[in-house]
Amino acid sequence: MPELPEVETVVQSIRDKLIGNEFENIEIRWPKVLFNFSKEDFLNTLINRKIQRVDRRAKFIIIGFDDDILAIHLRMTGKLYFQNNLSQKKHISAIITMNNGGYFIFEDTRKFGRFYYYNSQDYLNNKLGIEPLSNEFNDIWLKNILHNKKRMIKALLLDQNIIAGLGNIYVDECLWKSNIHPQTVSNKIPFKNILILCKEIKSTLQSSINAHGTTVVNFTFLNGQSGKYSDQLNIFGKEGRPCPRCSQTIKKKKIAGRGTHFCPKCQIKRN
Ligand SMILES: [Zn+2]
Repeated sequence: MPELPEVETVVQSIRDKLIGNEFENIEIRWPKVLFNFSKEDFLNTLINRKIQRVDRRAKFIIIGFDDDILAIHLRMTGKLYFQNNLSQKKHISAIITMNNGGYFIFEDTRKFGRFYYYNSQDYLNNKLGIEPLSNEFNDIWLKNILHNKKRMIKALLLDQNIIAGLGNIYVDECLWKSNIHPQTVSNKIPFKNILILCKEIKSTLQSSINAHGTTVVNFTFLNGQSGKYSDQLNIFGKEGRPCPRCSQTIKKKKIAGRGTHFCPKCQIKRN
């Protein structure tokens, strides 16, 4: 499943081809792809208008017009790319014809990906948590959240209403880097570990963006190329192998509903 770095990578790859251009038409091949609006709404509202910006908010790709936005969520297997010819491929959910003659394609094998239309981005901003790469996300903010809540740290970090876009892979990596057991109760984590956790969340996400994301199951970056961050993973997907820090065997266990990787020796559980 694409996480924040993969979505950011997609945003960076489509931005230049969208900004300043216009949509001309849309062909819907999977009717449910439009979540809260119809094809007629799309044609009445989004056609022949200049695209002003392309950004990411959490794991939504935001295509901005004036105040209103088309938001795209890739979910499990969604891919967005441009093609010069109409695609005959299977699994295409929607094809948008561009004013410059190309096609903007949404391909989605599992069909969970969706397009949303909002009058402004406020709706998403109010619903979603803080951006971990923003300046507002810092060690003091993180300490206040962790110490004011008594929640299992893994579940808390995955909660999109608190921190937006931090998914399973990066949570496991960052908890390992900061020596925190995923089942630790958040208000028991010492500030010195929170300082490391905050720093590692930012640097891990940024390194992954620089490497065009991680490709693990189901998600392949554009044109079949894989993200390269998989080479830098320490713990995710490494169950049964020795911990790179202490050589203890890495465990995998279902925690907070997700397959969680951790080292039972050097990640300390405090309850
Ligand atoms: Zn270890």
